Amino acid sequence: MRAWQRRFSHKILERGYQYYEDELVDEMQTEQEITTATIKGSKPYHVQVRYQNGHLSWATCDCPYARNGRYCKHEAALLYALDAQKGIPPVLASKRLELFVEDYAVIDIETTGLDDARDAIIEVGAIRVYPGGRLETYTSLIHTDQKLSSSIETLTGITQDMVSKAPPLEKVLREFGDFVRGTTLIGHNVPFDLAFLKRDFLSCLHEEFDPYYIDTLYLARRYLKNMAHYDLATVASYFKIDTGYHHRALQDVLMTLGIYRCFKEIEAFRQLCYRLENEMIIP
Ligand SMILES: [Zn+2]
Repeated sequence: MRAWQRRFSHKILERGYQYYEDELVDEMQTEQEITTATIKGSKPYHVQVRYQNGHLSWATCDCPYARNGRYCKHEAALLYALDAQKGIPPVLASKRLELFVEDYAVIDIETTGLDDARDAIIEVGAIRVYPGGRLETYTSLIHTDQKLSSSIETLTGITQDMVSKAPPLEKVLREFGDFVRGTTLIGHNVPFDLAFLKRDFLSCLHEEFDPYYIDTLYLARRYLKNMAHYDLATVASYFKIDTGYHHRALQDVLMTLGIYRCFKEIEAFRQLCYRLENEMIIP
């Protein structure tokens, strides 16, 4: 982690990194240790930083978030760009991986809602992929006393009766933890799933859960430009992956696995083209 990154919250760093990577840092000019830039986004914002030899003295931005004295994503984007200019690889201080892996588990959870402070996990699903292609699956409903909203019942097909008879959270977390131990986790918007899992591993098993992960939503935004939506079903449809049983954990895992394999193919072919152009026969 770079020293300046410690001043930023994790989420802001991720967003700033995305801005940097989407090349939204514009009109960058440095004069006597002070760099100014315009960050193009929904609105253009103007950023100034004093950043020299890896030391950040101060940063300002005219966005509403920074006005309250907080470090914002626009400032982070500029700092990533400045690091890149110096040849320092813009490391995202996170466990998100961008490389493609051979040994991984694709995961998905269903929940009673979107709030990781309050809502409960009601189902987990995972497909473990071993090098060479061998697959194993794990899925379980999870007991909860929370009332399922009718929209969740309709969305998932999981009923109150099903979760009331399901095994307890502790048992499922132990099995799930064993199933994915030591491998990279892959999911669509997987930070959402990880937030719930981290919380429950800590509160229920008193264990840290902090795996390396690859987010197919992030890959989709990066590889498929100009789509109106990037949700799981939309991206799966783009690749002609069957979305018929959407919103049960294991079915969503299967769609995510399909998406991930498509991105792997795309990237492998890109690299092949690059090698052909640079080293081999195509003039
Ligand atoms: Zn800002």
